[in-house]
Amino acid sequence: MNTSTRKRAGFSTEAIHAGQEPDPTTGAITTPIYQTSTYVQEGLGKHKGFEYARTQNPTRIALEKNVAVLERGTRGFAFGSGMAATSAITHLLKSGDHVVASNNMYGGTYRLFEQVTRGFGVDFSYVDTSNLEATAALFRPSTRLLFVETPTNPSMIISDLRGLAKLARARGALLAVDNTFMTPYFQRPLELGAHLVVHSTTKYLNGHSDMVGGIVISNDDAASERLQFLQNAVGAVPGPFDCWLVLRGVKTLGVRMDRHESNARAIAAWLSKHPKLTRVLYPGLPDHPGHALHKSQATGFGGMIAFETGSIERGAAVLQRTKIFALAESLGGVESLISHPASMTHASVPKIEREKVGLTDGLVRISVGIEDLEDLQADLEHALCVL
Ligand SMILES: *Cc1c(COP(=O)(O)O)cnc(C)c1O
Repeated sequence: MNTSTRKRAGFSTEAIHAGQEPDPTTGAITTPIYQTSTYVQEGLGKHKGFEYARTQNPTRIALEKNVAVLERGTRGFAFGSGMAATSAITHLLKSGDHVVASNNMYGGTYRLFEQVTRGFGVDFSYVDTSNLEATAALFRPSTRLLFVETPTNPSMIISDLRGLAKLARARGALLAVDNTFMTPYFQRPLELGAHLVVHSTTKYLNGHSDMVGGIVISNDDAASERLQFLQNAVGAVPGPFDCWLVLRGVKTLGVRMDRHESNARAIAAWLSKHPKLTRVLYPGLPDHPGHALHKSQATGFGGMIAFETGSIERGAAVLQRTKIFALAESLGGVESLISHPASMTHASVPKIEREKVGLTDGLVRISVGIEDLEDLQADLEHALCVL
């Protein structure tokens, strides 16, 4: 097939087929789970390209190829968790290097940077990356990495990916984007100029709340070469069964994201009219400050919403009354979840830092699942009666 003259296949066609040839030994249509630690060699130095399973595993390779195609990268590297994937990006740095990062990221990313990577002599500066000038002002000659999330978690702040990519490239730094909230179905940072994308595959890519994993997608040859070395040398690799679960999840990513989003849009519109709520954060709402920018760089708004209840007591009362929205950390699964960022996902971020980005004690976050809209809305309506 001449791919240069042919229009590329649609997202779901690639999600189902990319990186997944029928199994060469049996023709199995589904990539097998290669549950093995090693591979028998025919003779010294004579093997089929597989020596040891930390270095190469066919199920993992299928997943890496698949997500690399969806994110428009050249290489993918899967890891045992989203944090292990972000940690691999930090291993591209060395003592004396400097990083500029979003001041409102996943709490575990902040904890990794501050309580682990900083100890190895890497310096970090945090900024509202939706402000390009303020972000540029923090660059130093030693800045090697700009690390951002957009939308941020959970304040839903939108940063200009094209602008940030230009800024990083002009200063010789890599731009890495945590694309967990949007997934490649809605947003592809590498097409907008980023060098690296990281995912917690635990969330939407797997989508069924039954494993923990991560992946880095790269379109930078030097970074790819080093990441491949690091994946094997550091060894934070995922097991083949978990890779297989993500591969299966990705096949339905497009249909799931459409449903997450149509449910979330309806719920956000309804919440924004609720008389007891002062603030509803969802980039799909026309009055969201990042609405137009987000629309210019993504094709959808996703399934995450945060809303202000006014106090920790009022937030706790709401959390206790939902029946379908389960009180739990995590997001992106078919099941709807409800959580309290200040005490759960962002507990490791100091209160003063949380408040700078609007992450108040009364903020409640929901991950809107793919259940029936009427049931989700009735569940929230009942819970909000307590306010
Ligand atoms: C969950 C999450 C992570 C961390 O991933 P794990 O798989 O839990 O290690 C990183 N970034 C974002 C945005 C997340 O939601």
